[in-house]
Amino acid sequence: MNKITLLSFMLSFLIVAAGCGSQAGGNASSAQATATTTKPTTAADAPASVAAGPSSATANSTTPLQQARVPAQDISALPVLYYHSVNVEQDNELCMPPNQLREQMNYLKEHGYQTISPAQMASFLKGEGTLPEHPVLITFDDGYANNYTDAYPILQEFGFTATVFMISGALDSSGFLSTRQIQELSTNGWTIGGHTKNHEHLPQLDAARQAQEMRDSKAVLEQKLGRPVSVFAYPYGEYNAQVKKAVQDDGYALAFTTERGWVKQGADPLLLHRVYCYAHMGLQEFQRRIQNPNY
Ligand SMILES: [Zn+2]
Repeated sequence: MNKITLLSFMLSFLIVAAGCGSQAGGNASSAQATATTTKPTTAADAPASVAAGPSSATANSTTPLQQARVPAQDISALPVLYYHSVNVEQDNELCMPPNQLREQMNYLKEHGYQTISPAQMASFLKGEGTLPEHPVLITFDDGYANNYTDAYPILQEFGFTATVFMISGALDSSGFLSTRQIQELSTNGWTIGGHTKNHEHLPQLDAARQAQEMRDSKAVLEQKLGRPVSVFAYPYGEYNAQVKKAVQDDGYALAFTTERGWVKQGADPLLLHRVYCYAHMGLQEFQRRIQNPNY
């Protein structure tokens, strides 16, 4: 956990402190690789999954335009992709070039994937409702302006939606989403989630500050959007028992970490794993991560 936290810190420091507009690079893929090897339990503990595989769901009455849906109970795990900035930044793998994002989205579309919302994820975790045959949840952390200017139109090309975890203190500031933009995204099927007010290292704050970071963020976003904000992503992927409790006390239904792997049926809703997507990962690696729950 300490190693993971440290690596997450190093990784996320590059995101927030350096962003994609600076020369800072850093080999985050080696950090990711190290994290993986130091935490084999994530994949190794998981039972073999048949999630999102070919389905034999009957669809007698479906028209060609309708995709088959399967009971959530029949899906044992599904991938949640996470991105940050979408732009070209040499030697910074945290910035996904738009053409690579388009290539990945095209791959998803061609292989029958459909995006789901966090609300559908919540139902999945309860084993309720139905899901597309090949479900995927797409997320963007921090709330960069290019999530609107670049990612949004690309996802629209393929009929996809996503979730943005917005640093509320960055709203309307240079390089980040504006109030109008998050409202438009929200109106068009995207979900806006919390990512605290100032992107602090939550485990390092006392309980009162933790609560404030989350409460302020939630209140601001809900006021701007006029709807509840019920999903959260831990800044730097960092959490401990106290942080998790604060997230729960604040009324968040789902919270996402940066821990590797798919979300499995029965997973803790406040400790959901995600699939890291990085620049120049290549379509083959992308494919591997969305086809194998234990990649
Ligand atoms: Zn972040």
